Amino acid sequence: AVELDRVAELVRSVPDYPQPGVLFRDITPVLADGEAFATVATEIAARTGEADVVVGVEARGFLLGAAVALVAGVGTVPVRKAGKLPAVAASRTYDLEYGTATLELPAGVVEPGTRVYVVDDVLATGGTAAAACALLTDAGAEIVGFGTLLELTALDGRAKLDGVRVDALLSG
Ligand code: 5GP
Repeated sequence: AVELDRVAELVRSVPDYPQPGVLFRDITPVLADGEAFATVATEIAARTGEADVVVGVEARGFLLGAAVALVAGVGTVPVRKAGKLPAVAASRTYDLEYGTATLELPAGVVEPGTRVYVVDDVLATGGTAAAACALLTDAGAEIVGFGTLLELTALDGRAKLDGVRVDALLSG
């Protein structure tokens, strides 16, 4: 679609961030453009199906996830990096290229049987998305799908999301 072509043009590639050799895709200009932001939120919201809630993954997933939730007419729940939540239901540590990271699910907002749609800005290696989905399935939630603005297909992140439908608006 013409709208998504425009969104793609707004994604900025930043060499050697956060470390040498990495080409970082910066989606900030997409969020800063009202039409592009609305297109992205609307397109992802159209894929949330029967979800009861949209889960956004810290931090850019919050921006996108909240907009998607509003368009879809459901609530949103943040999955946060360790140490940010006052009450934690569960946490999950996963491997990064260097070191580890931990994600936490807030207490008292995702009941067993809740249908959730998970959103993050970019699907890279898939470690973050897989950890978020594992947290949610451990809590008894049903994952409707994972939605992202951009999938970096060369990193094959969706291989880590076994059994989860991946909706990517752009791939590169
Ligand atoms: P993963 O490798 O676990 O899929 O990605 C790690 C986290 O960093 C995810 O939240 C993902 O959104 C973010 N991330 C990884 N690479 C990029 C990138 O090139 N651009 C942006 N905007 N986020 C990235």
